[in-house]
Amino acid sequence: MFTDIYSPIHQLKHATRNHILVKRDDLIDPYISGNKWRKLKYILKEVQKKDKNHIVTFGGAYSNHLVATASACARASLKSTAFVRGEAVNNEMLLLCKLFGMNLIFTDRESYKNKALLFETHFGTDPQAHFVDEGGAGAEAVRGCAEIIAELPPDMDHLFCAAGTGTTAAGLLKGIHQRKLKTQLHVVPVLKGGDFIADEIYKHTGNVDQLVMHTDYHFGGYAKTPPTLIEYIKNFVATEGMLIDPVYTSKMFFAIDDLVANNYFKKEEKIIALHTGGLLGIWGVKDKFIY
Ligand SMILES: *Cc1c(COP(=O)(O)O)cnc(C)c1O
Repeated sequence: MFTDIYSPIHQLKHATRNHILVKRDDLIDPYISGNKWRKLKYILKEVQKKDKNHIVTFGGAYSNHLVATASACARASLKSTAFVRGEAVNNEMLLLCKLFGMNLIFTDRESYKNKALLFETHFGTDPQAHFVDEGGAGAEAVRGCAEIIAELPPDMDHLFCAAGTGTTAAGLLKGIHQRKLKTQLHVVPVLKGGDFIADEIYKHTGNVDQLVMHTDYHFGGYAKTPPTLIEYIKNFVATEGMLIDPVYTSKMFFAIDDLVANNYFKKEEKIIALHTGGLLGIWGVKDKFIY
């Protein structure tokens, strides 16, 4: 199932950004979207290799990772369970998780902090259960994300991605180093105090040459969507005919536009943005879009 993907490279249209290319990982799959597909690829291979049949993972109630895992597990004929942070709720994302057969265990915020203990308590005696960290973070995920680089033009000057844990960014940087490209990797953390992400990347790559952090585009913090960001999304989607999500890619594209406006790049430089998907996230903020 993890072969034969559709992720073309498209050019943006608006006059201020028609020199920017977008790697459309959002088109890989509607549910196993973008970087989640990249991350799950080797996680699922590992599970199948170990002859296990049950993935146990973790996430918030609007987690792209949970929908992706539920969908991927259903297709691979694996069971899936998720510990969902917070009190029991119902929403569009969790409906999809349930449709794909995922078992949801709502977990109060305090207990949720100790994921190893949760796994041990509920599934410690189940030899079929396999622990997958929140967001799919880990070495397999880094390996899957590094493969993106082979699908991009080797002469790109700047590659952009949004970051939550930094796992995707770590994979991209690893791929850049492995292929000895001159590309700079620009990372836009979507949460406040995103400098820690450089340390996370370092843990996986052992070297942060060619890494540039842009920590001022978090818009107040993780999943925070002030009116300026909502307006930006409306304009971008209507102008480009390309959907972006409110948690990750909108903050990355805003950062790129802002850097372009401040003449950060040289005219002839080749800029590529990685669309990491996550489009279902729009349902988490649907009430903020007033037309
Ligand atoms: C999960 C997610 C990210 C964050 O990826 P990390 O590897 O945790 O940094 C970025 N973009 C989208 C659309 C996501 O769903």
